[in-house]
Amino acid sequence: MTENNVRVRFAPSPTGPLHIGGVRTALYNYLFARQNGGKFVFRIEDTDSNRFVPGAEEYIAESFKWLGIKFDEGVGIGGEYGPYRQSERRHIYKEYVDQLLSEGKAYIAFDTPQELEAKRNEIENFQYDAHTRMQMRNSLTMSKQETDALIEDGQQYVVRFKIEPGLDVHVNDIIRGDVCVKSNILDDKVLYKSADELPTYHLANIVDDHLMKISHVIRGEEWLPSAPLHVLLYKAFGWEESMPQFAHLPLLLKPEGKGKLSKRDGDRLGFPVFPLEWHDPKTEEVSSGYRESGYFPEAVVNFLALLGWNPGTEQELFSLEELVKAFDIAKCSKSGAKFDYQKGMWFNHEYILRKTDDEIAHLFAPIVANNGVDVPMERVNTVVHLMKDRVSFVKELWDLCSFFFIAPTKYDEKTVKKRWKEYSAQQMTELSQILADITDFSVEGQEPIVMKWVESKEYKLGDIMNAFRLALVGEGKGPGMFDISAFLGKEETLRRLHKAIETLG
Ligand code: GLU
Repeated sequence: MTENNVRVRFAPSPTGPLHIGGVRTALYNYLFARQNGGKFVFRIEDTDSNRFVPGAEEYIAESFKWLGIKFDEGVGIGGEYGPYRQSERRHIYKEYVDQLLSEGKAYIAFDTPQELEAKRNEIENFQYDAHTRMQMRNSLTMSKQETDALIEDGQQYVVRFKIEPGLDVHVNDIIRGDVCVKSNILDDKVLYKSADELPTYHLANIVDDHLMKISHVIRGEEWLPSAPLHVLLYKAFGWEESMPQFAHLPLLLKPEGKGKLSKRDGDRLGFPVFPLEWHDPKTEEVSSGYRESGYFPEAVVNFLALLGWNPGTEQELFSLEELVKAFDIAKCSKSGAKFDYQKGMWFNHEYILRKTDDEIAHLFAPIVANNGVDVPMERVNTVVHLMKDRVSFVKELWDLCSFFFIAPTKYDEKTVKKRWKEYSAQQMTELSQILADITDFSVEGQEPIVMKWVESKEYKLGDIMNAFRLALVGEGKGPGMFDISAFLGKEETLRRLHKAIETLG
């Protein structure tokens, strides 16, 4: 396979919102395609109409748009191997089912659900396979005339893949090496159902991977058990030559490390497991998303890239471009990756620091406005500059910063008890007189003058600064005191000081 023939695909079934593990699968496919100059195909596997959920496909497409993960071909984009939605390809599959039937590699089975249930009760661990198929109602146990007559009669049937017993089936997996299973453990999977005239996932998936010239199948570990069947199907069709290479990615595990990450873990521990907020059309339940929770798409991408792969260096921050260069599918781990959502928050914090004050200010400005504050953009900018290193999300800024824009209306009781001494009013009155005489009210203008006064009076610096902070902020938090007073300006600083002296006495 030459490099330019690299063609990978992301092939979700639109059965609900995209799980964050699916996002990682798509990301790894994307990185692999980009670094090999290949193509990334977006295919929708919607042959199971019972599980179809309206809005899911749109949700998936929007998620990748937000994340900046682009497809080269597929649903919503087009390409020479379309259509890319399996429901629009139903006319294609029958021919391949018929090929297997005519070559004796598949057979028609009429067993009703009741009959299958009865067998399951009769035989422990019943499996429809070489040992049991001759006891069932199918085209192997009935004459051709009988079979044709039943079909003619309108009886529903399925087409089953006839698995040969006694074979060693090898799946060549880039991450796991040679995975070998005995064909005896596989059952005669249903490939096609007459009831809806549709192929099942397995058949459509293989036929489409073949027709779309997919070179590498990179997908979640949950599909590993299906891989031997897929290998056998490729062989049955005579497509061995073009069989894709497989890479089954490690599972995303619960933060505690045991078991698969689920939506319930997210609900329990307070983090999203979906890229975007999802409104379930049936239950009307709303599930939180990374976008709505205030994550940057770059942070989510960076975070996910490192769940199951690492560069082998200390580097943790990667842009998408850098990931394309550094990523190595062969270095993905076999064992599951613990989902450390606190690490996700850390990444978002790092991306806040990497963004300019301007960028963050533009995100913060609407929040400021929503709180009824009308200030020029440069004021928002200054606050962002002083405070952005303290938050993981832009939305956290308001609680930390509101005092810059709104004077305290009350004073935190605990802080008052601890910080406002009997002499504080006297000291703050003196301080306000000192400040009133300062013409250059910048940090550099205020600081030396105030310090000199504190020293000359032999006051305790802590006493002064704590009371000063309480007066301007209303509690014991915030950045450097002179940063605050410089931002507020002389007039507002003095107003807040006098108010505190008056109120706290
Ligand atoms: N439709 C399958 C899914 O929902 C695709 C699995 C595969 O990539 O083969 O994930």
